[in-house]
This record gives sequence, C-alpha cells and structure tokens, in this order.
Amino acid sequence: MNKPIHIDSSKLSNNIEKYIKPEVVYIPLENKNGITYKHLVKEGDYIYKGQVIAVNEKINFPIHSSVSGYAVCGSKHIISNGKKIKCVIIENDFKEKYEKKKLVNKEIASYTKDDFIESLRINGITGLGGSDYPTFLKYDSDNIKYLLINAVECEPFICCDKAVIYNYADSILETIDNILEIMKIPKAIIVTKDTNTSSIDSFNKYIGTYPNIQMCLVEDAYPNGWERLVVKNALGIEYNKYPIEKGIVVSNVSTIYAIYEMLKYNRPLTERVITITGPGIKKKTNVKVKIGALASEIIMNLDGYKDIQNPLFIAGGPMMGNSMPTDDVIITKDLNCILVIEDHFEKNLPCIKCGKCIEVCPVDIAPVLIMNNHDNHDNLKNLNPNKCIECGLCSYICPSKIEVREFVRIAKEKVKEE
Ligand code: SF4
Ligand code: SF4
Repeated sequence: MNKPIHIDSSKLSNNIEKYIKPEVVYIPLENKNGITYKHLVKEGDYIYKGQVIAVNEKINFPIHSSVSGYAVCGSKHIISNGKKIKCVIIENDFKEKYEKKKLVNKEIASYTKDDFIESLRINGITGLGGSDYPTFLKYDSDNIKYLLINAVECEPFICCDKAVIYNYADSILETIDNILEIMKIPKAIIVTKDTNTSSIDSFNKYIGTYPNIQMCLVEDAYPNGWERLVVKNALGIEYNKYPIEKGIVVSNVSTIYAIYEMLKYNRPLTERVITITGPGIKKKTNVKVKIGALASEIIMNLDGYKDIQNPLFIAGGPMMGNSMPTDDVIITKDLNCILVIEDHFEKNLPCIKCGKCIEVCPVDIAPVLIMNNHDNHDNLKNLNPNKCIECGLCSYICPSKIEVREFVRIAKEKVKEE
C-alpha cells in the first residue's frame, strides 16, 4: 500500500449555519451507488415530515420526507454522481407536521440489539461520510469486538464532521457509549487527525467519563480517512473485504450524531450538515440542510456566488467529488460538500509516462495502464479497476493534469457490467 500524502487546504470555523426552509425537496429514487427505491406516494398526496415515501424492496430500507407538504408530479434531477434521477417532489408547506406515531419515544435503557438494528433500518440511517451504505446492515452481527468512529475527514476543504464534533461532542460520546451498551461491544476508538485540535479538545472535555472509549490520532494525510486505513491505523488489523470479518464496525462521526437524534428523539435521517466552500462562494460555511434541498437554493440563501472566471461546481470535495453541469444538485445523504472553484487547469496534455499515478495509488493498481487500455476489456479485467476507491490521487498528482480517475471509474463500471 502506497504512503498517504499531505495536502494543504484551508478549513472553516466550527460554526454551523442553518437553512432548513427549502421551497421544494427532491427525493431521488436511486442513490449514487445505483440502489433503487420504489415510490409509495402519488401526486396530490399530503406528506408528513418523516413519512416513508419510498422503499428499497430488496432490503426493506425506507427513505423519508424531510418536509411536510403536497407531492407534485415527479421529474428527473441531478444527484452527486452527476446522473439525472427520477424524484418524488414535495412542495414544502413549512408546517413541519409529523405523523402522530412519530412522536412516540423509547427509553434507551430498554433497547435490545434487535431493537437498535431495526431502529437504524426504519429511520433510514446511512453512512454520512459519503458511502450512503445502510447502517443497520453494518451492525447486524453478534460478534462485534471494536467500534471505530471515523472522524478523520482527510479530504481538503471538507470540515462538516469537525463542526459537528465541536458542537455536539458530548452527545456523540453519549451515543457511542449507548451503542457499546446496547450492542455489547467491549471498546470504541475515535480516530481523528493529529492536527485536528478542536475535535481533540472537544472530545477530551468529556471522554474521561467513558472508560471504554479511546482516541487514536493519525497523521494529517490523504487518504487516511479511508476505512481500510482507519482500521489499520487504529488496530493494526487488515481485512479482506469488510471490517466485520475481524469483528470491527466503522461508523462516520456524523452518522453517530444521526444515531443520537434517532435514539433521543426518534427522528429519521432527514437533515445533515454539509460544507459549502471554495473561492466561488461568498459565505463559506458549514450548514445544516434538509435532505432533498437543491444546492443552488441553499447557496443563494447564504449570500450567493463570487464573480470568478470559469466557475467549476463540484459535488463533494476536490479529490473524490464530481464536477457538475449545473448547481441544481440535490443534497443527498452521502453529499458532504459543495465546492465552487475556478477551473484554470490546462487539460488534455499528453501522458509523459512518469508513473506518479502508480506511485500514489493506495490500492496498488496502475491508473495509467487502465487509461491506456480503456477499450480493451480483457486487459482491463487483469488491471483490476474494480479495486479503485475513487480517491482522486492519480488525477491530483498527474503533471499533465489528466483526469486519470475518470478513466479508472469508467473502466470499473465496464468490468462490473460484464
Ligand atoms: S482514484 Fe482509484 S486509481 Fe486513482 S489513485 Fe485513487 S484508487 Fe488509485
Ligand atoms: S501521472 Fe499522468 S503523466 Fe504520469 S504516468 Fe500517470 S497519467 Fe501519465
């Protein structure tokens, strides 16, 4: 495995703004991983906040409305992977009306393992670090020895987790402790960067009360927040496919905060904190938003755009994000950053065969060879593009400014389709 590298970037203050009054929300019926949902409501229906409006039938996993209001005719809109997806659209009536049963709460002390896992499922909790993987599937095991909390947030510019920790460290620790108790897990380790002083200080204020929770500090280098490196750095353990093979569950720290709201208030996951930043944004900040709001509406309500040449709108961070043709991108659960930068790169210079993309690739594949063999299916298979974690280091390091990651990503899809 190649060594992670340090990338400089400015981070924002820990203040969290709020924009939770979107005119309309768009709930896509497919996520960025291609998981599809069947809609359960029709045009004209009155929708309560927190109501299940669609479900993935294979794993019985719901999506909820983040507002109350009327469902209107569905159409396609762009999500974080750049694809246009059919949506359930709800016009917000700003009444925040919950269904009556949503007000029922349960004592945390009375939760069993099964109750907890079922609660994660029915409240639609997914990995907020960018995976969008249903959390109940991760915890559905009788043999969890370690709970690792991923608070590394190593991608430049993104700092929503840092803000969540600063504002809610006590609730996060309380929730980790509750999970250990309910799931009978002996130990939790919070993994964060050694340069992240505000998070370290915030946790240190309360962590003494929790003997089974420790902190592990890792170097400020990319991609140290990758699950495999989180596990390796915290425990010195490697695994084949998933951490659970070794009795390990890894949860992003903002996901833990969503679990706090679920346990405390019986709230489904309908809001998240996201970083809105970059030279093209007037008010760079972390902001709490409704899932399903449009990025364009949020940015305009935060003061709008700066006048820059060739603005490039990115859903996600500069390394793993995707450039978008429009700012009308839906905020989905996986989306942790909107970045607006100046597109000043000279593109399409020839490859100089320097091999730097191979040197940095954390999964030890050869991006340049995958690029050069993009139309040779047999060769592609042997080059293992499926191992790519889309970290973007190959594009970042390339002196010819070639979007190498794009070639690998397309190759990955081609190999998967076969
Ligand atoms: S994007 Fe994929 S191919 Fe490129 S460095 Fe990262 S893991 Fe390797
Ligand atoms: S880093 Fe860029 S120029 Fe160097 S081998 Fe890879 S693709 Fe070619």
